[in-house]
Amino acid sequence: MLDLGKQATSQLRYKSLMSIDELQGKLRDFTSQRDWERFHTPKNLVMALAGEAGELTAVFQWLSPEESADAMADPSRAERVRDEIADVLAYLLRLADVLGVDLEAALAAKMIKNARKYPVETARGNARKYNDLP
Ligand SMILES: [Mg+2]
Repeated sequence: MLDLGKQATSQLRYKSLMSIDELQGKLRDFTSQRDWERFHTPKNLVMALAGEAGELTAVFQWLSPEESADAMADPSRAERVRDEIADVLAYLLRLADVLGVDLEAALAAKMIKNARKYPVETARGNARKYNDLP
């Protein structure tokens, strides 16, 4: 008998072990197989990314803060959230790939900048922008 729980777990592990490079390779293959490289200019990818971020935003639009915190409790809404997050990620990965941006290095560098902008001593517990911090 097929153990779906075990199979699902192993698929999940497989997915969680994929690196950024592997994800970008899969998206590159997907694009290439459809001869879509010509459409994947930085301008078009940025616009697609913004469009998908808008679709994700639309899922949460008009929800109360409490409803938004509980968004994944509704299976239909949860699927839309996962789909739109995946769309945002896919276009972000494609954009970085096309521009030659090393996502891990870019994130690491930005986190260092953010740590300087938002020192724990002044930023802890408030949501002020860095130029409004004491
Ligand atoms: Mg979408």
